[in-house]
Amino acid sequence: MSWEKIVRKVTPYVPGEQPKDKNIIKLNTNECPYPPAPGVRKLLETIKYEDMRLYPDPEASVLVDALSDYYNVPKDQIFVGVGSDDVLSMAYLTFFNSDKPLLFPDITYSFYDVWAELYKVPYKKIPLNDDFKINFEDYYEENQPNGGVIIANPNAPVGISEPVSELEKLIQHNRNSVVIIDEAYIDFGGESALPLIEKYENVLVVQTFSKSRAMAGMRIGYAFGSKKLIKYMQDAKFSFNSYTMNRPSLELGVAAIEDDKYFKDTCAKIVATRERVKKELSGLGFTFPDSKANFIFAKHERVSGEELFLALKEKGIYVRHWSADRIADYLRITIGTDEEMDKLIAFLKEYLA
Ligand code: PMP
Repeated sequence: MSWEKIVRKVTPYVPGEQPKDKNIIKLNTNECPYPPAPGVRKLLETIKYEDMRLYPDPEASVLVDALSDYYNVPKDQIFVGVGSDDVLSMAYLTFFNSDKPLLFPDITYSFYDVWAELYKVPYKKIPLNDDFKINFEDYYEENQPNGGVIIANPNAPVGISEPVSELEKLIQHNRNSVVIIDEAYIDFGGESALPLIEKYENVLVVQTFSKSRAMAGMRIGYAFGSKKLIKYMQDAKFSFNSYTMNRPSLELGVAAIEDDKYFKDTCAKIVATRERVKKELSGLGFTFPDSKANFIFAKHERVSGEELFLALKEKGIYVRHWSADRIADYLRITIGTDEEMDKLIAFLKEYLA
């Protein structure tokens, strides 16, 4: 049909399953296994339903103020959105507007090529090395002219964290396009590139409340950059939808930031569980890159990724599996509570015996 010829056709990103059954052990979408800070719950009880008739603050000021105080970054260098997916999508729309390709690793967050397709941004995937590490020189503009670079650090789904010194060198060799550092998993042991926004005008550092602050369901993401960079993003956002973030998200996000002890304790608990699970998995014949995120990307010496994925699912334990090249034998296992991880290990012990 003729109208269909001009439809924008995309193959959408496929998020991990959200099963209805509450008894499932859900280790498939990198959510936090603990609830948000207690202050979030307290505030939730006081939110007035009558206020829903009013639009939210288009500037998201309360949240921007709280982020500004916490991270010590001026307000005009902060952008907020509906999860970091929204922030990243806005960044694509704003910055990746070149005939040269956008660069990102061949194994990374699988939304990166979807946005490129959606916005018709040319792109090129740069292979990770055999240890799933990034070879930064491949991204230098003298080696690969580009219209932008996006790097997840720690990288997903592999979990490896790269040093900021390498990111800085990449930026020094790439001054003619925007470099995005996606730090969705930074709070579990990586080194943040945030200080680089003061030195380089073309760097955007993106973070989220979805993992370390246990608020994936509220959809809160944010980014830091130079004043100029953030202004360009705001202009695109206000040309798209003024009211992206809803009223409760703005308020509840502030409450989450206010309880720093809870935040740090929660991250420390997840890190401790991760390190323990690494040892257990090694003992069972798994190998994995050394993760600094809230998941482990593991491959068994004998049993295929697909088989394990299905066996775990049958048992009510959901993990993530991709059948793509190079990673089909791996499972991405989110770090849950100690009890959940004990159940996973107990099942694997029995299954692999
Ligand atoms: N970046 C990476 C690397 C991710 O894994 C995710 C989670 N799917 C996101 C961004 C988006 O997270 P959110 O929109 O919940 O902030």
